[in-house]
Amino acid sequence: MIDQIKKVGVLTSGGDAPGMNAAIRAVVRCCAYHNIECVGIYRGYEGLIDGDFIPLGARSVKNMINRGGTFLKSARSKEFKTKEGRAKAYKNLKKAGVDSMIVIGGDGTFRGALEFGKEYQFPIVGIPGTIDNDINGTDYTIGYDTALNTVIEAIDKIRDTAHSHNRLFLVEVMGRDAGDIALSAGVGAGAEAILIPEQNIGREHLMESLRRSKQSGKSSSIIVVSEGDQIGKNIFNVAKYIENNLKGYEVRVTVLGHIQRGGSPSGRDRILASRLGVNAVDALLRGEKNVMVGQKLNKVVTVPFSESIKGENEIDMELIRIAKITSI
Ligand code: ADP
Repeated sequence: MIDQIKKVGVLTSGGDAPGMNAAIRAVVRCCAYHNIECVGIYRGYEGLIDGDFIPLGARSVKNMINRGGTFLKSARSKEFKTKEGRAKAYKNLKKAGVDSMIVIGGDGTFRGALEFGKEYQFPIVGIPGTIDNDINGTDYTIGYDTALNTVIEAIDKIRDTAHSHNRLFLVEVMGRDAGDIALSAGVGAGAEAILIPEQNIGREHLMESLRRSKQSGKSSSIIVVSEGDQIGKNIFNVAKYIENNLKGYEVRVTVLGHIQRGGSPSGRDRILASRLGVNAVDALLRGEKNVMVGQKLNKVVTVPFSESIKGENEIDMELIRIAKITSI
């Protein structure tokens, strides 16, 4: 199988995540190590359709491991969802002599790769790169650890002002469908309550818990709200509701927004990205296709795209229990 792969294309697609550059770097260096050509594709599937390619050698990814974002840029492509768009993409790959591809992104990126790979019998391996940690078949996605640390650092700062003014802060974090960031950051930053999309605890339950805390002597509180949470759908409405029904607290809202995506990747993300980047090239060389490389129980695994996109985000019930006990 090994001599079939001669030129690997690499792209980043969908939402950007810290550590994507480290993953590209590992792919490029692993190709160089095996004397295979590597081609960078700009702006995800958009650049694939436009033929926006650049040859990448070992030195073209220097000083890249520590940089946030993705130097290949990322994009969302409506055209790639059409047969015509994918036909253009295939033509460009053929013209450039690219015979295989590594795509770094989230479940949407893998859905596109699965469609394209099947349609053209084109070998593609995926690397999970998204801050949401919502990919089936890997314990962690690249970018999640960095985003978690960014959120915890931000909440630490908010805690200082919450404490000084006896305020209750609602902090909205990213995660439209997955509450991983909210739950882990909530535990790590010592939140009073954590609202996640997977579990609707209900307004009254929340109010009860806040009243109890107040009676037990808490003078300030932080509630972490995942942007997709069912009662937090509009975090400002929840703030108003609490203010109207709980006397003695000033309620403030902070929406962390895009600062959660940026920044230099954490040590863990750099190592994960390096590991998965190298293993993605290895998987192509072994003749694997339509799979994602991930990490389960500290071992690198390959998982079919069809499994990885199932969207069965399992919430960590043990962590919910920890949050409940430690916030008493
Ligand atoms: P993420 O990879 O972060 O989940 P998106 O959901 O935006 O981000 O997906 C990235 C891109 O993947 C989309 O802009 C689109 O071009 C492509 N894509 C997603 N789903 C499909 C699909 N069913 N068929 C073809 N391409 C798809």
